[in-house]
Amino acid sequence: MSSMNDSTSAPKQCDLLVRADAVVTQNDAREVVQDAAVAIRDGLVAEVGGYADLVAGYEPSAQLDMSGKVLLPGLVNAHTHLPMTLFRGIADDLPLMEWLENHIWPVEVQLTDPMLEIGAKIGCAELIRTGCTAFLNGYFHEHVTGNTASDAGLRAVLGEGFFSFPSPSFPSADHCWETIRRLESEFSENPLVRTAVTPHAAFTVSPAELTESYALACDLDIPWQIHIAESPAETATCLEKYGKRPLQILADEGVLTPRTVLHHCVDITDEEIERLADSGVCAVHCPGSNLKLCSGLSPVQRLIDAGVTVGLGTDGASSNNQLNMFRDMALAALVGKIRSGDASAVSAQTVLDMATRGSARCLGWPELGRIQPGCPADMVALELASPNLMPLYNPVSHAVYASTGMEVCMTMAAGQILYLYGEFRTMDIHGLREETRSASQWISERKK
Ligand SMILES: [Zn+2]
Repeated sequence: MSSMNDSTSAPKQCDLLVRADAVVTQNDAREVVQDAAVAIRDGLVAEVGGYADLVAGYEPSAQLDMSGKVLLPGLVNAHTHLPMTLFRGIADDLPLMEWLENHIWPVEVQLTDPMLEIGAKIGCAELIRTGCTAFLNGYFHEHVTGNTASDAGLRAVLGEGFFSFPSPSFPSADHCWETIRRLESEFSENPLVRTAVTPHAAFTVSPAELTESYALACDLDIPWQIHIAESPAETATCLEKYGKRPLQILADEGVLTPRTVLHHCVDITDEEIERLADSGVCAVHCPGSNLKLCSGLSPVQRLIDAGVTVGLGTDGASSNNQLNMFRDMALAALVGKIRSGDASAVSAQTVLDMATRGSARCLGWPELGRIQPGCPADMVALELASPNLMPLYNPVSHAVYASTGMEVCMTMAAGQILYLYGEFRTMDIHGLREETRSASQWISERKK
């Protein structure tokens, strides 16, 4: 008789149904669904499919019509230092050590929590505006960045940084362990915020403290991240100090494991690439920062061919100077070809994989970086009425080569809309402009 009594055809409930010209799912088959819709329930993707099917099958509480747009998974920034937006453009075109010792460290050591909060807010606003919904951080007083990101609706993995010499927070590395434990417990109930153990580098943290901090990461069952093999200069320093290349130091301490996230991996040998693949570590490529600091070009295609999981990060806004993942996606593809001497190397799909699924694995959050049933509803929309996105043959190509990031017209994390058509929904962007003015004055007064 009537199909109305057939429970299998009763409309399903969802909180939001989003319609778009296309959805780049980044699922295992890398499907791109045309004339598509995404049903969202309880902050998760309930279903992805053709609009006609989903609009007939669901009774949504609300709808968002993104016709004329393409949906992508929210990008994942796997290496940054969010509050360093405060130092954006303060000193450029300098060698690394002169830049750090004369311009960054003297001010950094004086930063207060209210200043760090302004820096983190600027960073969150830039991430949201440029389509990034999760990031792996490393800095000081990380509870500030955690609270700021959570308030903005972004996902964050916090890394309280330490050296074997005094940092702005700790007289020595072992003072950091208790802070890391406290940070982990402070955010344990927050679904948006996680933590990672974060030694700065193999030349600033002693081998014994690398091992000790790794044991802490195992105990808390969280990622362990470090800057490594960033430049030939770092290799020279490690050889002089320990008689070993940077990765050899980590290998000898037994800390190259699937828990480990290695930022940069620029100055590495073929033998080291094989070792990284065998050990199951994640590597994070930061082309914008590597280019600006003249660190070198990471052999990204060789890492991927060897089977290493590679994510993408911007690094801090003082060495990039942007937190815009679209720019680093383009740079990754372009410099990857030069590094390989092969125009087919580091393809658009490879780069989008790095910025979504690869970075998600670096964060220890592998369900991010895809628009797929059961996964978090973190996604962004690109405005196809942008002249630089006309015509459209392949949305993956446009995301990597043609977009600037300013085509992002909607950013959503955990089903919550953070940005829509120029309006920040979770942040007071005009108030932030005022706060930034006072922060830059505060920093200028302490710069010299
Ligand atoms: Zn860094």
